[in-house]
Amino acid sequence: MTKFNTQLIHGGNSEDPATGAVSTPIYRSSTFHRHVLGGEPKWEYSRTGNPTRASLEKLMAQLEGGVAGFAFASGSAAIHAVFSLYSQGDHFIVGKDVYGGTFRLINKVLKRFGMEFTVVNTRDLQAVEDAIQGNTVAIYFETPTNPLLQITDIEAIAKIAKKHGIKTIIDNTFATPYNQRPLTLGADIVVHSATKYLGGHSDVVAGIAVTNDQEIADQLAFLQNSIGSTLGPDDSWLLQRGIKTLAARMRVHQENTDAVIDFLQGDDHIAKIYYPGLKNFPGHDIAAKQMRNFGAMISFELQPGLSAKKFVESLQLIDLAESLGGIESLIEVPAVMTHGSIPREIRLKNGIADELIRLSVGIEDPEDIIADLNQALAKLD
Ligand code: PLP
Repeated sequence: MTKFNTQLIHGGNSEDPATGAVSTPIYRSSTFHRHVLGGEPKWEYSRTGNPTRASLEKLMAQLEGGVAGFAFASGSAAIHAVFSLYSQGDHFIVGKDVYGGTFRLINKVLKRFGMEFTVVNTRDLQAVEDAIQGNTVAIYFETPTNPLLQITDIEAIAKIAKKHGIKTIIDNTFATPYNQRPLTLGADIVVHSATKYLGGHSDVVAGIAVTNDQEIADQLAFLQNSIGSTLGPDDSWLLQRGIKTLAARMRVHQENTDAVIDFLQGDDHIAKIYYPGLKNFPGHDIAAKQMRNFGAMISFELQPGLSAKKFVESLQLIDLAESLGGIESLIEVPAVMTHGSIPREIRLKNGIADELIRLSVGIEDPEDIIADLNQALAKLD
């Protein structure tokens, strides 16, 4: 078995069986000719299976160490398909800090179908165990979380879950399989907003689910085909193209982030930094144990009274925009943007202050990123 960085490039269908093309061709055909009636043709209809998508799915299964991968039209679609494994009356434990859209999916959609949820700080292992009920089917969380970068011990949670015969589902968007492989730590299903680091260039919206359980894989294949929120062949190709450079990008993202953290730590305008690479950050030791490196997402708060609005609007290089994980540095204010769908009182209770700023450090020259942050901070004086 080749190593991870080699798999990024040679995984999936690294050579097209029909032509030998080294870049998987984009098979745009919606349907496939049959030579005989009946039987089980390899390809029949592109919602059910498409060769370009299949290459990406195989690659993602390899990268996460699973038995099968599934590509969806968005990260939200992947998360929806995974929850669709379960039924009315099933109960889930959900991490306290999750992407605002996941919070919305749970509260405004899945609850309407009779699914039950208890929100728990998954860093507190006892609280997780205490929240397990007779009808609990899974524990769902992010680590690091969006936007507070909170760290949960994957191995410890998976151990609790196994003891109670329930599943562990992890949103691995922030870490990517380059930095963290939850299935190898005991998790059962991994989901991604592939829109972020996997795609890497802010030019594709996509989602991925991977499992190491053949029974779940069979069900997910059924659900992917039944619900139909699949990723099209063009986007599947684009995503696989992006994934090829994941390791190269992540190395530069990390170098730049280390430099930006040093800068922020030395700046008087900054009151608090959320970053698992900081030695005094809660969960640092767990992150060091379960992640290759700490990633390129940073959240921070300005000193009381300083305006986050004025700061982000003063930036000239860093894009004020939703999303993350692109080659370009992106900044946002979760309370107004990515987490605006969470009611303010719940947001504040969960630690997302109105003035919290989330920065996705890109791969530009670090001096330029820091100079932009510096000039925007100076405008607050
Ligand atoms: N999970 C996390 C951690 C996210 O940040 C996002 C989007 O920001 C999603 C899931 C949803 O993914 P998508 O926007 O691709 O639907």
